[in-house]
Amino acid sequence: MARYTGADCRLCRREGTKLFLKGDRCYTDKCGVERRPYPPGQAGKRRPRDSEYRGQLREKQKTKRLYGLLEKQFRNCYEVANRQQGITGENLLRLLESRLDNVVYRLGFAKSRDEGRQVVRHGHITVNGRRVNIPSYRVRAGDTVAVADKAKDLLVIKTSLISSEKIEVPGWLEVDIEKLSGKVLSLPERNQIDAPVREQLIIELYSK
Ligand code: SF4
Repeated sequence: MARYTGADCRLCRREGTKLFLKGDRCYTDKCGVERRPYPPGQAGKRRPRDSEYRGQLREKQKTKRLYGLLEKQFRNCYEVANRQQGITGENLLRLLESRLDNVVYRLGFAKSRDEGRQVVRHGHITVNGRRVNIPSYRVRAGDTVAVADKAKDLLVIKTSLISSEKIEVPGWLEVDIEKLSGKVLSLPERNQIDAPVREQLIIELYSK
């Protein structure tokens, strides 16, 4: 599957905010945004022109990068959200949050969403006791997400759990660190999603 392979910190600097794409490093003073708080590239320090379109585009790019999706995947997610009942922007965020790679990250079984995707792809995660290796798999309320027995001693999981002390498990999830498993109590409401996103701008962009 295609994915972005460039430097993660460039993405944060482009969006002017920490997207926490690199795990532990994001919590240190080596963070790219803190060291160079201006956009990458030659024109980085020049002040960009403000426009309505630019604001909408940047919000969409930021959200897409935060969850590690490419344009087509993100657009598909929007289409699904648009077909659902309720507020499209909230539906979109709920769909993004309920991806298995994000849930693995939120539970502290991976240091970043990118690592969450890798852990899922390698078959280290089960949902309701069955191995699932599709990062975009959408969890449902009542699902149990766990580290597969064979993966419990893997270093990547152990180090993630240590760094997860920095990650607060959101209220819609419940984690059992001893068993390396978590439960989806419900799908998240907007106020349970701490993503720094103004989703309405994304909807305005795609509705044009
Ligand atoms: Fe973003 Fe993390 Fe790099 Fe900081 S260290 S710029 S938060 S990816």
